Amino acid sequence: MNKVGVVGAGTMGNGIAHTFAQFGFEVILADANAEALKKGFENISRNMDRQVSKGILSETDKQAALARIEMVQGITEAFSACDLVVEAASENLQVKMAIFKSLDTYCNPNCILTSNTSSISITKIASATARPEKVIGMHFMNPVPVMKLVEIINGFSTSKETLERVIDYTKKIGKIPVNANDYPGFVANRILMPMINEAIISLQEGVAGVAEIDNIMKLGMAHPMGPLQLADFIGLDICLNILNVLFDGFGQPKYAPSPLLVNMVNAGKLGIKTGSGFYDYSQGTKELIVAPAFR
Ligand code: NAD
Repeated sequence: MNKVGVVGAGTMGNGIAHTFAQFGFEVILADANAEALKKGFENISRNMDRQVSKGILSETDKQAALARIEMVQGITEAFSACDLVVEAASENLQVKMAIFKSLDTYCNPNCILTSNTSSISITKIASATARPEKVIGMHFMNPVPVMKLVEIINGFSTSKETLERVIDYTKKIGKIPVNANDYPGFVANRILMPMINEAIISLQEGVAGVAEIDNIMKLGMAHPMGPLQLADFIGLDICLNILNVLFDGFGQPKYAPSPLLVNMVNAGKLGIKTGSGFYDYSQGTKELIVAPAFR
């Protein structure tokens, strides 16, 4: 149980590779895009520097962890040596189905294949393989090196042995596994996204402004971040995607995405990653500045 493959070197994939390498696992980090792979490795190194400055990691351990990460472009023969794979590629069913088909070909029959999907059905992803009993969800939280929870999602055919092995891996990297079943949004996003959507609907209806909505939830409910700031952090496109999965999966109007959210995604105001969402990040300050559209 020593070699772990990670597919996708973006926000989540580089955090997942970082964490496994930090806890002594050999890691193969793959991305379809060479530039994303390079950026992913640079992010890992930068985030480890932060851990060194905080005394969480020594410089020697950092260097050893980085040396345990092998990078490959695309899914290759290198994956045959993996005991566990975590897929963290883009949130798109076709992309994930193609990746799992390919992993099923390259990985040895005992290898467990997991997905970090936020909302796509694990049962559906598993159907791309000939080993659905060895496919399971490993839903890490962002930022991965910091957040303790891993939501573990059983697909319809996931075996008890697979669940036990994945719980064991999760504990070995210092995380806390919590098990859920495969229904749209699992638990985390089924509860979080309607809250974010309701905050956006409240803003749209003029119940209160951006800062007021966030302050009420921070001060009143002890949330470390208000729902609108959190939406900017996650990415408004991702929030919209997940709400659409909930809406399609349950067929209930309560999950319908707010028209304001749809407008903002269409306008390219996706939050931190585009420099603007409910807040404006273009000034580069730590202080939260409400975006001009909501002042
Ligand atoms: P991202 O866009 O930052 O990274 C995705 C990476 O996947 C990109 O580097 C892209 O080049 C790569 N990729 C795309 N197709 C590929 C392929 N066929 N083979 C290999 N690499 C491929 O996305 P992200 O935010 O890291 O999200 C990744 C997954 O994690 C998604 O399923 C998302 O829903 C889930 N997730 C995201 C968050 C979050 O806060 N961002 C939290 C939990 C789960």
